[in-house]
Amino acid sequence: MWQVRGQDKILALLNHSLEEQNIAHAYLLVGPSHVGKRTLALNLAQALNCNDPHPPCGQCRSCRRIIEGKHADVTVIDLDLCRRISKETDPEDTISRTQIGISCIKELQRLANLPTYEGRYKVFIFEEAESLSTAAANSLLKILEEPPPNVVWLLLSAEERRLLPTITSRCQRLELKPMPEKQLKQTLTEFYNIEPDKAELLAHLCHGRLGWVLSALADDGILFQRSQTIDRLISLLTASLGQRFAYAQELAAQFSQERKPVMEIMEIWLSWWRDLMLIKSKCKEAITNTDYEAVLEKQASNLCPSEINNFTNNLLLTEEQIYRNVNARLAFESLMLNMPKIPLRAKRGNHNG
Ligand SMILES: [Zn+2]
Repeated sequence: MWQVRGQDKILALLNHSLEEQNIAHAYLLVGPSHVGKRTLALNLAQALNCNDPHPPCGQCRSCRRIIEGKHADVTVIDLDLCRRISKETDPEDTISRTQIGISCIKELQRLANLPTYEGRYKVFIFEEAESLSTAAANSLLKILEEPPPNVVWLLLSAEERRLLPTITSRCQRLELKPMPEKQLKQTLTEFYNIEPDKAELLAHLCHGRLGWVLSALADDGILFQRSQTIDRLISLLTASLGQRFAYAQELAAQFSQERKPVMEIMEIWLSWWRDLMLIKSKCKEAITNTDYEAVLEKQASNLCPSEINNFTNNLLLTEEQIYRNVNARLAFESLMLNMPKIPLRAKRGNHNG
């Protein structure tokens, strides 16, 4: 049984392709982070190698070995694995912390050309395909142009626009959509026995991404980190420029080590400023961060719509700049400069002080 939920159209298409044995040699799985791309990729790897009449059964030896990460023909490629491969195969290759290098792709190409070891298909899953360096992407392109038989490449990306069009055009594109909030809340209460109140808050926070909720339920740290990010954001609104710049420097240093946590912070910021705009527009019921409603209302009363709008645009611009590898520290400093400032003893409302 497919484990991914809320992606019925994609599953119907894949079931049909499996029945017809009409499998593409490369798929591009796109959608926001935690929407289910990795689950779907592993499920597809299972389906391609499953021995049950209704694949993926999830129970046979092959299906179990894939989920446990032990199957010899299924490789999940993340930045850590790439760094290890590069170190072993080509010590000359400049190893970047944030990019997949060409030596890694060359090694994968060698592996792809070997016969399968225990399954029918070799499957290579790229967790963050947007991290391919240009040289690595061009090397992969050559493989996709002359694909070895019984090899399937799965490229996962939350940032599709950062992929080379020559790569994306060689893949069958599968777009995973966030689940509607109602359906997600229902899934949480019915399949995962979450209490209705908690399910409602989580469904609100996750923007339709079931994977985010499941990670948050499995790891208290995720919700803790979210509240830490929000507390920091709240304090920055009244902070001095020096404190803001110190934070910009912190973000840039973190970004140079690992992109993902910083992108998640930016996402929380965007949801916060969107909430402020919703409150200003008298659409309080649509806000995401419902557990911070009182703080949001207080802040909104001290900001005017143009300030909120301008800063939201600044956030989007910063995201775009760091995608494009503009000096991250400059980008974050400029963001901090443009953040509206709420005086420490701000009045509580627009009227009557
Ligand atoms: Zn199976």
